[in-house]
Amino acid sequence: MRAVVFHNPKDVRVETIDDPRIEEARDAILRVTSTAICGSDLHIYNGMFPQPRNMVLGHEFMGIVEEVGPGVKNLKKGDRVVVPFPISCGTCRFCNMQLPTHCENSNPENYGPEGELLKGKGAALFGYTDLYGGYNGGQAEYVRVPYADYGPRKVPDNFTDEQVLFLTDIFPTGWAAVDWANLQGGETVAVWGCGPVGIMAMKSAWLQGAKRVIGIDIQDYRLRMAEKSANVETINARNVDAVEVIRDMTGGYGADVCIDAVGMEADRTAMEKAMNVVQMEKGSMKVLERCFDSVRRAGTVSVVGVYGSPYNNFPLHQWFDKGIKLMGGQAWVHRYIDNLISLVQDGKVVLDDIITHNVPLSEASRMYDIFNKKEDNCVKVVLKP
Ligand code: NAD
Ligand code: ZN
Ligand code: ZN
Repeated sequence: MRAVVFHNPKDVRVETIDDPRIEEARDAILRVTSTAICGSDLHIYNGMFPQPRNMVLGHEFMGIVEEVGPGVKNLKKGDRVVVPFPISCGTCRFCNMQLPTHCENSNPENYGPEGELLKGKGAALFGYTDLYGGYNGGQAEYVRVPYADYGPRKVPDNFTDEQVLFLTDIFPTGWAAVDWANLQGGETVAVWGCGPVGIMAMKSAWLQGAKRVIGIDIQDYRLRMAEKSANVETINARNVDAVEVIRDMTGGYGADVCIDAVGMEADRTAMEKAMNVVQMEKGSMKVLERCFDSVRRAGTVSVVGVYGSPYNNFPLHQWFDKGIKLMGGQAWVHRYIDNLISLVQDGKVVLDDIITHNVPLSEASRMYDIFNKKEDNCVKVVLKP
């Protein structure tokens, strides 16, 4: 089959590799019909998450079930499904708490030399380095889906792939960022980052009862996309002090909720230099610090942008003094996805309006480059195997 294979930082190739096979009873093999590139893929692409061996990338994908293992009773060949990006067993302590990103069974890194459970690692993710389980991803013609009786969800036939693809990751992720702030209705939500994840958080903020939603970015074309797709007010943090502007907009208080949908790419220079994760610079915390600055006292800072290294200048004093509620992590896709499918089905939200590039899988390397450099007004890339 053809697949998008990571070789080295900035070296991603579409090449022919062996087809995946059923390895465990609860596996399924999916024929991928659509897959997207995510800001998280850029962390591998840029070498911030080191990956020592070749691996198929991609954790946002959907398709048609080709084959199921004997343990999968709820799916059959021909079913059309979307697949949550975390690989979760559905039966462990954490899955039972509806915390699928902390599944203790899916990540082989969580077992010691004698097969003992180390209780230290979270769930594996598709196509997301050996640290996250070493599973091949879905930017390919076929993908092996472990625990296929728990993750994949059937989607309505009358919706196109593009209309439902983002249920795999970015919509649940944006939804989680807002859910973690537990809106009571009427809040002002400031979303830092107008990429696909930020825009999904903005759509989610309206759906969960926000009264005012503000999008902050440093790329004008992304701000225009957020205005168009999520109907938000915007601030270009390159031109003005966005913290001051947010305070002015909120009578001096700050926003009730600040969402960091940027993560460690906040400082592109730091990112370029951070080919070795240990060298991550202080600058890479900029957006999280600005969230602390621009949230009101006793407000919530919700972090879905990914951070992958320690940081010694954490604004502990501000967190304590302002009484800020801080939450972050990988999104609990399995917990939210059924409700979110209903929202799409009922026409309460449109997801596909952020797609700027919809191209054959064969163009993946060029697309990684464009999406990484934020060229060609690129917001979201969909690849067709
Ligand atoms: P993206 O790269 O398309 O978007 C990031 C946006 O941040 C860009 O529009 C960029 O211009 C903007 N930005 C960069 N520096 C900034 C700054 N200093 N101030 C304001 N804006 C700035 O990525 P994406 O696909 O939208 O993903 C965003 C983040 O979410 C990434 O860190 C990604 O890894 C993470 N993510 C997390 C989860 C999760 O489960 N928590 C899931 C998916 C993605
Ligand atoms: Zn993603
Ligand atoms: Zn589990």
